[in-house]
Amino acid sequence: MAPRHARVIVLGSGPAGYTAALYAARAGHDPLLLTGVQKGGQLVTTSTIENWPAEHAAVIGVDLMERFEAQAVRFGVEIVFDEISSVALAERPFHLVGAEGEYTCDALIIATGASAKYLGLPAEQQFLGRGVSTCATCDGYFFKGQPVAVVGGGDTAVQDAVDLSNIASSVTLVHRRDTFAAEAILVSRLMKRVGRGAITLALNHTVEDILGDDAGVTGLRLRAAPEGTTRDLAVAGVFIAIGHRPNTALFRGAVDMDAAGYVLTRGGRGPGATATNIEGVFAAGDVQDPIYRQAVTAAASGCQAALDAGWFLDGA
Ligand code: FAD
Ligand code: NAP
Repeated sequence: MAPRHARVIVLGSGPAGYTAALYAARAGHDPLLLTGVQKGGQLVTTSTIENWPAEHAAVIGVDLMERFEAQAVRFGVEIVFDEISSVALAERPFHLVGAEGEYTCDALIIATGASAKYLGLPAEQQFLGRGVSTCATCDGYFFKGQPVAVVGGGDTAVQDAVDLSNIASSVTLVHRRDTFAAEAILVSRLMKRVGRGAITLALNHTVEDILGDDAGVTGLRLRAAPEGTTRDLAVAGVFIAIGHRPNTALFRGAVDMDAAGYVLTRGGRGPGATATNIEGVFAAGDVQDPIYRQAVTAAASGCQAALDAGWFLDGA
């Protein structure tokens, strides 16, 4: 069977993908959106979202993503549940192979997102959304006035610990080394709060287990190195901040990426900010953003990618 052709294919059904498809449809570019196995993206794994603009009451992740889908469908976006396993981007039309079929397109928007890294403890998944979080910006407020811990020693962990110290009753930063990989300015902010007693450091410590009950997380079991001794720390929440992995294995060798695997886009001001090194291929959302990683920033760059793709198609 001949591959299904679309002028624009959007890969991914998170905030970036649906927004890109919505804008492409309204501009008359007849997009096809391939959802991937996680239809709705990362937000379907969370319960309450309180920072989606104009949503004055908290919204449930699944409900919000269903609304993204309904709006895209209303403007004629064709949505196919398929996960792409290989791409050929060296010449146009671009060629994509999925589990359900093959596709070609004149412009491609990559919005495949990123996945948080986890410690690998069974309790992590058991308490996910009930005290375990990978997003302090998203979930920190739920722990207002309660003790929390952050795990990691990079920019994210240090920034999260500083931010959470404005919300939580106490913050313990658990790091497996005695030095931080974070920027000096962030470490300096951290140490100021340590000096004021707002943040406690548990350096040379690893998390051996996450403790909890029916209501959620109650504490952490920490192991000190090199002594090997353990102690329990009472916390209501733990933020795992040990890095993210962009979902870009599929594009390795096909599109330029940074050392961590994030797709490189042109950036800057002016048209083409979401362009990759391959003419006609654009990227939006967490797949190209190691810093902000929010639904609203993903959606905004999805809009930009659709506009960039439209201008490319109009000029092609
Ligand atoms: P994603 O949402 O990651 O979506 C990626 C999409 O790509 C998925 O649909 C997936 O199926 C698809 N895909 C992947 N690989 C393929 C493939 N090979 N073929 C086809 N499709 C593919 N942000 C907030 O602003 N507020 C919050 O309260 C908030 N809470 C969060 C809570 C949790 C637990 C998590 C994990 C994240 C949270 N975030 C929150 C962050 C937010 O979810 C992300 O920033 C946002 O979802 C990124 O959107 P995206 O469209 O770039 O990618
Ligand atoms: P990162 O730089 O990869 O740091 C990950 C941290 O987690 C490291 O300290 C690492 O420890 C630790 N770690 C990794 N695996 C672990 C495990 N299994 N158990 C315990 N600890 C583990 O990730 P990031 O902090 O998310 O930063 C990602 C990128 O975003 C970076 O480029 C960063 O500069 C950027 N960023 C910037 C800002 C900012 O500028 N304000 C904010 C956030 C993120 P080891 O050191 O021992 O490996």
